[in-house]
Amino acid sequence: MGFSMYDDEADLAEVAKSPDHLVDGSHDLTKHNSKHRLTDQIADRYAQHAEHKKRAARMYDCGKVLAFDRYRIGDCEEPFRVLANGSFCRERLCPFCMKRNSAWLHVRLTQAVERFLKQNPQHQAALLTLTMKNMTEEKLRYWLDRLLKAFRKLMRYKRVSAAVSAWYRTTEITRNPETGEFHPHIHLLVFFPPEYFKRAKGLYITQAEWAGMFKKALQVDYTPVCDIRAMPGVGGGAPLDDLGRKSLFEVCKYVCEPGMFFEGEDLEGFPLLELHEALHGRRLIGMSANLQRIMDEQSLPQEAPDDFIPVNGRLPEGAVLEGREIYHWRQGATPAQSRYVLVEFRPWSQPSATMEAVMTSTLPD
Ligand SMILES: [Zn+2]
Repeated sequence: MGFSMYDDEADLAEVAKSPDHLVDGSHDLTKHNSKHRLTDQIADRYAQHAEHKKRAARMYDCGKVLAFDRYRIGDCEEPFRVLANGSFCRERLCPFCMKRNSAWLHVRLTQAVERFLKQNPQHQAALLTLTMKNMTEEKLRYWLDRLLKAFRKLMRYKRVSAAVSAWYRTTEITRNPETGEFHPHIHLLVFFPPEYFKRAKGLYITQAEWAGMFKKALQVDYTPVCDIRAMPGVGGGAPLDDLGRKSLFEVCKYVCEPGMFFEGEDLEGFPLLELHEALHGRRLIGMSANLQRIMDEQSLPQEAPDDFIPVNGRLPEGAVLEGREIYHWRQGATPAQSRYVLVEFRPWSQPSATMEAVMTSTLPD
């Protein structure tokens, strides 16, 4: 996992002198350039505080080494690149890592749900969203506590524990760009046994009843907005299909959207440390014991391996692997001069390999 090919500074100096033709400005890399600068800006904010200096350093290094598999499609001039490996900081509020983490959650959850449905084919999934009133950043930690406590209480209510056969929870925080207030809420994937939908069994819980029970658990004087909806493609007698896999993304949101940091104002005005403190030491993901057992039996680690590639598209027809490119981030005098520089290309030894062949093969070292 990971790689470090240039261990000493002498190598790096050589690389820095790479001629211009090694610098590639394809759309893929431009995309990474902009995300990268976002990570650097957040690292700048952390770096202003002595206790977060190490965190900032990790974030500055995040994604500064990237490996791409380069494909050629017919006689198309522009090659096609797929991110294949990199060095990542895994910080919760790193925009570069957020999307990867969320994609990795999805991989793990999808596998666990597939297994659960094999054992419980008739069970049906639903998506329950539990919300509360918005709050300012000073109150965020306190109300996150209350939210998660209320959730644990809710799941222990007799009616709920009798109706729910398995669950998976993520916590998301959004922010109102106009008022600057935070909105923490819970996305909950719940499985119901087939009896749940049979009136005579008395297991069914209406939306109003969910909201009433959550209000009681949260101990507030208003009725919190609770939404429950079916999760198409997840359960009900059929194996998990593409639609189901897509629906599962709803519960794989990772804390917040990177765009949140810049909504309505620049990053300087964003209460980054308050958000950081509110999240510190918290388990933002939870699941029922039976789903946890299935997860534990999986061979997938909790955190995304460095060579994990979020699949966000298919390789174009007829793409032929040329080899692996390794890029290092070079800080220029101005942001416009900073970019990824190609430092090494390892050709793929079988240039005539078909797409199918390269998809199932590993690259030579
Ligand atoms: Zn990162």
